[in-house]
Amino acid sequence: RTNMDEFAMGSSCENSAFAKTANPWDIERVPGGSSGGSASSVSASMVPAALGSDTGGSIRQPAAFCGTVGLKPSYGIVSRYGLVAFASSLDQIGPITNTVLDSAIMLDIISGRDAMDCTSLELESGFANFADAAKNAESLRGARVGIPSECLDCEGLEDSIRRSVEKTIEIMRGLGAQIMTVSLPHWKYSVASYYVIAAAEASANLARFDGVRYGLREKTENLSDMYFSTREAGFGEEVKRRILLGTFVLSSGYYDAYYLRAQKARTLIRRDYEDAFKKCDIILTPVTPSLPFKFGEKSSPLQMYLSDIFTISVNLAGNCAISVPSEISPSGLPIGIQFVAPSNGEKILLSASAVFEKNREIKRFTPPETKRAVL
Ligand code: GLN
Repeated sequence: RTNMDEFAMGSSCENSAFAKTANPWDIERVPGGSSGGSASSVSASMVPAALGSDTGGSIRQPAAFCGTVGLKPSYGIVSRYGLVAFASSLDQIGPITNTVLDSAIMLDIISGRDAMDCTSLELESGFANFADAAKNAESLRGARVGIPSECLDCEGLEDSIRRSVEKTIEIMRGLGAQIMTVSLPHWKYSVASYYVIAAAEASANLARFDGVRYGLREKTENLSDMYFSTREAGFGEEVKRRILLGTFVLSSGYYDAYYLRAQKARTLIRRDYEDAFKKCDIILTPVTPSLPFKFGEKSSPLQMYLSDIFTISVNLAGNCAISVPSEISPSGLPIGIQFVAPSNGEKILLSASAVFEKNREIKRFTPPETKRAVL
């Protein structure tokens, strides 16, 4: 078991109910989140692979912060049976590993139809063999790579990350890929609509933690006090914030103004991707707007929410995406880039990212010994 933000709500592991997890590249910095413990332990070579859950970026963002590979499968590829639900229409389980091939091997193991999750899909072949796609990919000749203009124009994108995307574009072009600009006009609404939809679903999913059916129960005089004290004592600040927000946007009178509009925006975002994928096979974007930040640096929840700006729309659309380490910044921190493919496009996603991984400048991403010693 590895550390994470409570109920997978967060982008730094600072919302953990247990302890602090450090980034092996610099222990004064966060490992990302919510699956920060998984990314940190793979990066520090404690384990060869770990699982994470990605509702809005929680596999890809910590993977990028720790210099590892993080794969969010298409919605339905991996069963959610056994996963504690945060936002059921967005949650997906996926691997965090050192290489693209390792991620493909993990996906072969965990994917496919499960009678215990009715949203899980029967894959084309009984045995998926995503690993073959990653192992045998040699060239990008004929691949069409789309760059969404909105992403590179995004306010707050750090220079080192922008440069890494530009360098990746050149590497892909050199490998024979055709590079083109695409547009995701409703992408700018993704963070806002995600925080309405995810909070709404979380408020419903977390209603079961009431002291009667699961987990903690505070001792009190009567039933209603027990509900209140249990939920007061058992949830952290961020989780309570999301439950309150979710209950608010679902309440009568506000449902149409917030929840319904967020669902409409979600449909438009999904259609933007469908249109873009008529022109290109995969989309290339940054994973995060910034390098791994220091503990306590993002003081307001809103600032923290914006760190998922490049990952969230993928969950809203149900696509698959992977974050692959691309470079080390001049300050010695890892940078990742994100490839996105249409729903069920794992094979093209894995083969394109495996070719990029083979041809990037830095071959291995290992955190410096000096900085990780005291972990
Ligand atoms: N950081 C995002 C959030 O706090 C995404 C979390 C996730 O993917 N589990 O909701």
